[in-house]
Amino acid sequence: MKPPPFRYHDPRSLDEALDLLASHENAKLLAGGQSLMPMLNMRFAQPDHVIDINGIDDLAYIRETASGIEIGAMTRQHDLEVSQLLQRRCPVMIEALHQVGHRPTRNRGTIGGSLCHLDPAAELPLVAAALDVTIHVKSRRGARSMPMAAFPAFYMTPSIEPDEMVTSIDFQPWSEGHGYAFVEFARRHGDFAIVAAAALLEVSADGAVTRASATLGGVGPAPLRCEGVENALVGNRGSATLFREAAEANRAIDAMDDVHASVVYRQNLAVELTSRALGKAFERASERSSS
Ligand SMILES: Cc1cc2nc3c(=O)[nH]c(=O)nc-3n(C[C@H](O)[C@H](O)[C@H](O)COP(=O)(O)OP(=O)(O)OC[C@H]3O[C@@H](n4cnc5c(N)ncnc54)[C@H](O)[C@@H]3O)c2cc1C
Repeated sequence: MKPPPFRYHDPRSLDEALDLLASHENAKLLAGGQSLMPMLNMRFAQPDHVIDINGIDDLAYIRETASGIEIGAMTRQHDLEVSQLLQRRCPVMIEALHQVGHRPTRNRGTIGGSLCHLDPAAELPLVAAALDVTIHVKSRRGARSMPMAAFPAFYMTPSIEPDEMVTSIDFQPWSEGHGYAFVEFARRHGDFAIVAAAALLEVSADGAVTRASATLGGVGPAPLRCEGVENALVGNRGSATLFREAAEANRAIDAMDDVHASVVYRQNLAVELTSRALGKAFERASERSSS
């Protein structure tokens, strides 16, 4: 199918893009186009105006600041994947990116586009939830920020207004020797996950978990932080038994069902993948602290 007719706009600055968003109703931003173009072609989206933000160079960057790491919304997924800074300070994002689509989709797809498209099984929103990132949004009315936990409004819909644009995210990286893992189950490599799990762990010299983040994707409309799992870990010595028992809390999650998998299948995957992610993260924390 072909997209419905729309007027194309090609702003060269953030101000120009925000003016266009403020003055045109039923407008859509075009970032990497890897989700928007299929949505247009299938006529799931029928905007009157498409505002192409690829000409705004200063929205694409990865930088270390006094308070953490800041990433511009138009940063390509490939640029994140090869970033030395992220490899060193946020390796879970790199591991997740290797499972996002295919090289050509990552060459064009952006972090802002992935967060705003908010597919329930997408890897980057899951990582954003695992890291508790802050999302920065601008419009002609001003700027505001929100935690990732408040970003999803409902299914595939971020809580931003039609005249607002996501401009960047930032987060505080975990300690240098933290353990991390991103694991997913998909029908084929490059497909969206049926269920995915991310784990971040800080571990003391005697093997006790001092900080934990456990997050699932693909089980509901938005990434799910597994607080029950996290609470069961902190203060205890890491072991396969601990991780398996803690992950069992995910058997009770309110999982969705669809043509790909039933509720029970997703609950089983949630337990299994969480347990594997925690085990891998713990192993890496132990290796990284001893090297
Ligand atoms: C074959 C194929 C396989 C894929 N597999 C995966 C996969 O396994 N995992 C995965 O996560 N993704 C996958 N994707 C999707 C891909 O990661 C997209 O890049 C991503 O979902 C959207 O990013 P984009 O930059 O292309 O955004 P676009 O498609 O340009 O935009 C997506 C939506 O976000 C809005 N938007 C974009 N930027 C902003 C902004 N800054 N502020 C506000 N709104 C904005 C747009 O208006 C649109 O509604 C796949 C895509 C393809 C084509």
